[in-house]
Amino acid sequence: MKKIRAGLIGATGMVGQNYLRLLKEHPWFQVTYVAASPRSAGKKYSEAVAGRWIMDEEIPEEVADLIVGDANDVEEAKAKCDFVFSAVEMEKQAVRELEEKYAANDIPVVSNNSAHRHTEDVPMLIPEINAHHTDIIPYQQKNRGWNKGFIVVKPNCSLQSYLTPVYALIKAGYPVESLVITTLQAVSGAGYPGPASINMIDNIIPFIPGEEGKTEREPLKILGSIKNGKFVYYDALRISAHCNRVPIIDGHTACVSLKFRSAPPSLDEIIAIWNEFRAEPQELNLPSAPQPPIVYRDEEDRPQPRKDRNVGKGMAVTVGRLRECPVMDIRFVALSHNTIRGAAGGAILSAELLKAKGYLAR
Ligand code: NAP
Repeated sequence: MKKIRAGLIGATGMVGQNYLRLLKEHPWFQVTYVAASPRSAGKKYSEAVAGRWIMDEEIPEEVADLIVGDANDVEEAKAKCDFVFSAVEMEKQAVRELEEKYAANDIPVVSNNSAHRHTEDVPMLIPEINAHHTDIIPYQQKNRGWNKGFIVVKPNCSLQSYLTPVYALIKAGYPVESLVITTLQAVSGAGYPGPASINMIDNIIPFIPGEEGKTEREPLKILGSIKNGKFVYYDALRISAHCNRVPIIDGHTACVSLKFRSAPPSLDEIIAIWNEFRAEPQELNLPSAPQPPIVYRDEEDRPQPRKDRNVGKGMAVTVGRLRECPVMDIRFVALSHNTIRGAAGGAILSAELLKAKGYLAR
């Protein structure tokens, strides 16, 4: 099979670097185009990231000599790739317009940016939960007069630790009424170089701008349905979030208290539901799909970021400390790798799903 040519806009940033690391030797996609701001454009990739390549591995050989394009120049991308991953950091309206420009020029966009997360015909994918939301793509193309191009986005990294375990319970027939969530989020979630070390060492910052709103609102779209070519948000779940920045490099943890709408399942049944949970990415055997997607740890002191963030190559969710709650019904702790599952890896899984469903082709 000839690989599908992937472009990466925002290739020099932290999420962009993670993409390049994860796409190295990908069985379906080959990075043929990298782009960033006009500051980096025209340089060799290795020169553009000199002094700011922060991955543990070296720059992939096949990318080091690529000349960085200007992400704003869609014509260049059109000649060099079949679709793009978008990891640019710009003002929201500028990102919205840029991603639409790519889609209008027949280049599908798989985005990490939040600009289109609540656009009414753009799917926000966690492939284990809402793979069927890709069904809106033909409506999106029709609404906008686009031919081959479209936009899909991935959600914020803060909710990916707990939403799949919660969804597994809903899918098993136990609707959830409310969630109270306290997140402990790694510094890498703030991009490079992130918060100053003098603010983070020996400290916790109980505020991440915009994060609590995202944690409370994005799940309602992800759990929602499509009606007349638009998303209808799931309105049967209330979420209260406290989001904290903690001195961890990678791995977002969430402490969750959960109330069911009716009689709760037993703790043993919940663990069985999580252990047995499989979804479309696993059934389709997508290259980045974690097998299994949810890992339950029995030890009383797990999950922990250092020990559990790389489970399933950073794509699985690790859950532990399931116990009854005297205020709600149950409580547990969940963890996922924020720059893999929560950023580049999650978007690569979405692109694999799109390829498997026939939306991406060479
Ligand atoms: P970053 O390290 O600041 O990188 C930003 C990228 O955008 C760089 O490639 C930069 O190019 C490019 N860029 C900046 N201004 C531009 C312009 N005017 N035109 C074109 N390109 C421009 O940011 P990041 O942490 O990788 O985050 C990238 C995106 O992913 C953001 O939208 C962020 O919210 C989202 N995200 C991040 C995480 C995370 O864990 N960090 C998780 C989920 C989602 P130059 O190098 O040339 O300046």
